[in-house]
Amino acid sequence: MCKPRLAVFKFASCDGCQLSLLDAEDHLLAVADAVEIVYFPEATSHMEEGPYDIALVEGSITTPHDAERIQQIRKDARFLMTIGACATAGGIQALRNWADKDEFMQAVYATPEYIQVLETSTPIAEHVQVDFELRGCPINQYQLIEVIRSLLAGQTPRTPRHSVCLD
Ligand code: SF4
Repeated sequence: MCKPRLAVFKFASCDGCQLSLLDAEDHLLAVADAVEIVYFPEATSHMEEGPYDIALVEGSITTPHDAERIQQIRKDARFLMTIGACATAGGIQALRNWADKDEFMQAVYATPEYIQVLETSTPIAEHVQVDFELRGCPINQYQLIEVIRSLLAGQTPRTPRHSVCLD
């Protein structure tokens, strides 16, 4: 029987959420046994095109190319889950949304005319339908493994509404 195909994609981010997944080691190995990881550039050079059963998406949309790429990922993915504050809320890079991006470009790049960037950094859900959001910076790796396990078991994933206790 074919295993579900899992893919991990990165947009503008620090990679910390993907590394959280890799840090889960033994738990990840258990999940890796139940799925076929067909796209995960952070972990392997082996990359396959869609369709995917589960797509994990880290990072925010900041360039015209990002905006096109996430549309294709959505078409290819049966279940799309965003992981981390960058993907679910725009991330630290969204701080520029309240300023003039051209001023930043002039200050940071010697040749800003070669840089193509959107006016804002936005969460994935502002571009495509997202099936599940896992928040945190970084995400809790055990919550992520638990969500993947739930999906594989055909159950609705359950995670706390907050990543810290607010009581
Ligand atoms: Fe890094 Fe935090 Fe963004 Fe995850 S949410 S990619 S840890 S900045």
